[in-house]
Amino acid sequence: MKGKEHIYKIEPYQPGKPIEEVKRELGLTDVIKLASNENPLGPSPRAVEAMRKSLENVSFYPDGNCTILREKLSQKLGFPTSSFVFGNGVDEIIHFIGLAFLDEGDEAIMADPSFVRYEAAILLNKALCRKVPLKDFQYDVEVIIDAINEKTKVIFIANPNNPTGTFLSKEQLEMLIKRAEGKLVVLDEAYFEFVDDPSFPNSLSFLREGRDVIVLRTFSKIYGLAGLRIGYGVAKEETVQAIEHTREPFNVNYLAQVAAVAALDDEEHLRKTQKTIWEGKHYLYEQFDEMGLFYLPTQANFIFVDVKRDSREVFQALLREGVIVRTCDIFGCPTFLRVSIGTMKQNERFIRALKKVLGGAD
Ligand code: PMP
Repeated sequence: MKGKEHIYKIEPYQPGKPIEEVKRELGLTDVIKLASNENPLGPSPRAVEAMRKSLENVSFYPDGNCTILREKLSQKLGFPTSSFVFGNGVDEIIHFIGLAFLDEGDEAIMADPSFVRYEAAILLNKALCRKVPLKDFQYDVEVIIDAINEKTKVIFIANPNNPTGTFLSKEQLEMLIKRAEGKLVVLDEAYFEFVDDPSFPNSLSFLREGRDVIVLRTFSKIYGLAGLRIGYGVAKEETVQAIEHTREPFNVNYLAQVAAVAALDDEEHLRKTQKTIWEGKHYLYEQFDEMGLFYLPTQANFIFVDVKRDSREVFQALLREGVIVRTCDIFGCPTFLRVSIGTMKQNERFIRALKKVLGGAD
């Protein structure tokens, strides 16, 4: 049976290629994945231990309110427990935002290129997706402001942005939020723990001022829990309540909640991961400089790099070397790769493979 007409405008998501699939397809035994911006050190050992101890409880439904995690985040971030909403990954919260705030005839704004799931959430609700091109790979706040009109309901900002790793400064964000009065500004901070630039804005301060923003954060990246699917939003109670009407009762599974609570206490794992990523990015910058490749300095755990040829071919050749990365043709940048920063061993392996692939193709 054919589905509703408008859903066919939404491209099904193309996830990063799984390691096991590449091993099977290419007959390889040693494959590394630098394609989905996961934590190369794996999950926090504390989270793993907490899950191990909790396995016997999976016969019970999870706490639909995520009470323990909610209380913990409320204390950590200094917002009332009623300011939080939880999702099966930030992906699901983006979906909820679409369901709760967008309708036929409405408009929503996103940058181009940016995280592709914003467009899905917009189109699924028959709203119009206004894409504002980045300028020199940076957000162009003035053009975003120009795109706002009376039909605009939601503005999606990934800060730092995926796939570029670039970001909006405090001043730029302030200007945008002021001009977006009465609209919901989504500040997707999936990568904010990897930021090392002091001019990065404190998004929660906008919420404290009473602005209409929702800050999204995930346990998939720095906390290394991508396979469990858990993320959260912090917003005004009114925004949270609207989303609550769209949420399924048990959308966040039990083990994800247990792991997230334990991971929040593991400062050591967080610091170790930051150190790995920051060292890794400087190593990759040096290597790209030596190779004469253009890249964008990043505030996330991935780098957007121009390999100056069809990135799909480079991707295939890297796969044969056992290295999975991401092509950026879907972002309209057909010669760019997005590579997640790995352990130093993984970064070195990626560079060896890239040199071989690019050198060999000359
Ligand atoms: N936002 C951005 C900008 C992302 O890059 C991602 C992950 N690809 C997500 C949200 C989704 O994160 P999660 O795993 O929590 O669904």
